[in-house]
Amino acid sequence: MPIKKYIIANWKMNLNLAESVNLAKEMKEKFSGFDQGEVVVCPSILALSEVEKILKGGKAILGAQNVFWEDKGMYTGEISADMLAEVGCKYVILGHSDRRKYLFENYEMIHKKVRAVMETEKLTPIVCIGETLEEKESDKRDFVLVEQLQQALSGIDVFGEQRVIVAYEPVWALGTGTAIDPAEAEYAHKIIKLALNDMFGMRVVSKNFSVIYGGSINSKNVKSFANLENMDGLLVGGASLKAEEFYKVAKSIVN
Ligand code: PEP
Repeated sequence: MPIKKYIIANWKMNLNLAESVNLAKEMKEKFSGFDQGEVVVCPSILALSEVEKILKGGKAILGAQNVFWEDKGMYTGEISADMLAEVGCKYVILGHSDRRKYLFENYEMIHKKVRAVMETEKLTPIVCIGETLEEKESDKRDFVLVEQLQQALSGIDVFGEQRVIVAYEPVWALGTGTAIDPAEAEYAHKIIKLALNDMFGMRVVSKNFSVIYGGSINSKNVKSFANLENMDGLLVGGASLKAEEFYKVAKSIVN
């Protein structure tokens, strides 16, 4: 059976608890008849439990924006994969460029997070990679993408039906309102799939891996991303903060 496309909302730190609850209610309603793709909503940690109560029984599934790599212990401010699973999370974003930029999260840390998440077998990791403007302008993109994949995923075991989502997010396109040229995204996705094939083998990659794009997608530009080769879905920031806009994005990518 072909794997459904992913449409993943990253609400980042944009909404307080009341706003998250309201938007979750709107999302549940909007997506009530939506079966063509896997819709994931990632609120802030503060709102996870309340949003889960709302989404329960609907089509959208709960995800988190971050996790720590240890099970429990003296790690002030951190949350484990089991804790996220306990409140109903099924997905978790790892190594988002916001965290790499502001919190100096590096790929050694991201690797530990991927490992911890895969070992729980309760959450699907959404591993973010992507070049900066400087790396793009010095023609290092392909090298950077392969390097980031290797650092995040080398030596990780993928068992049975476990899924791994790689989100290609060119850092320079995030939050700008202008997505990259779809042909560029298609090319980057091909590089990513080829690198994954080298690391895990084609069979595992086609069965267990998805590669999605993130970077200023909205209802106006999404159509040109809909039929790209190796495009398994979208990670959506700004355009996921309005239920109607996010729904339009989701509809366009699956049609
Ligand atoms: C993101 O930061 O993950 C993202 C996709 O943001 P935006 O859609 O706002 O560029």
